Amino acid sequence: MSAIDLKAHIRSIKDFPKPGIMFRDITPLLAAPAAFRESIRLLADRYRDAGVTAVAAAEARGFIFAAPLAIELDAAFIPVRKPGKLPFDRRAFQYDLEYGSDSLEMHVDAVKTGDRVLLVDDLLATGGTMQACAKLAELAGAHVVGCAFIVELTFLPGRKKLEGYDVFSLMQYH
Ligand code: IMP
Repeated sequence: MSAIDLKAHIRSIKDFPKPGIMFRDITPLLAAPAAFRESIRLLADRYRDAGVTAVAAAEARGFIFAAPLAIELDAAFIPVRKPGKLPFDRRAFQYDLEYGSDSLEMHVDAVKTGDRVLLVDDLLATGGTMQACAKLAELAGAHVVGCAFIVELTFLPGRKKLEGYDVFSLMQYH
């Protein structure tokens, strides 16, 4: 349970980035140290005894939450990036978007067999981004402990796409 109303720190912006979309903006939460700290504490408390060896997240907003969480869990932080950004040998996973496709990459030595990876992102929408992160971790032989989000849009099929994974979110919009 949270002593802080985290949802009060999310700003809703109509018609961004395009008409018809209600964008849930996490920047007010990031600007409120008590709320930001509380969101990390809640996630850390949930996974503290889960044997997490690495916390992985896709750029850019996922990094913001995954990095402090990794430190809190005494685990590695693994950046998952857009194509062409990682300097060392990498593995790519392509996933579908509403129109077209996108790709995410992870260094080949970032996680290995036996690693227990927690995946983090700011927001769960269709689940495509998180599914790509999960596939990249599994292709490297790691076990996905869970998929954790700050915000979940429950009216989209993200949770269904992530069926089989332990999905957790701090707040939901229905
Ligand atoms: P998905 O792959 O469709 O689940 O989309 C999730 C990704 O899109 C996350 O990495 C989010 O950062 C981003 N995203 C989509 N909608 C929003 C929003 O309303 N607020 C903030 N980020 C969003």
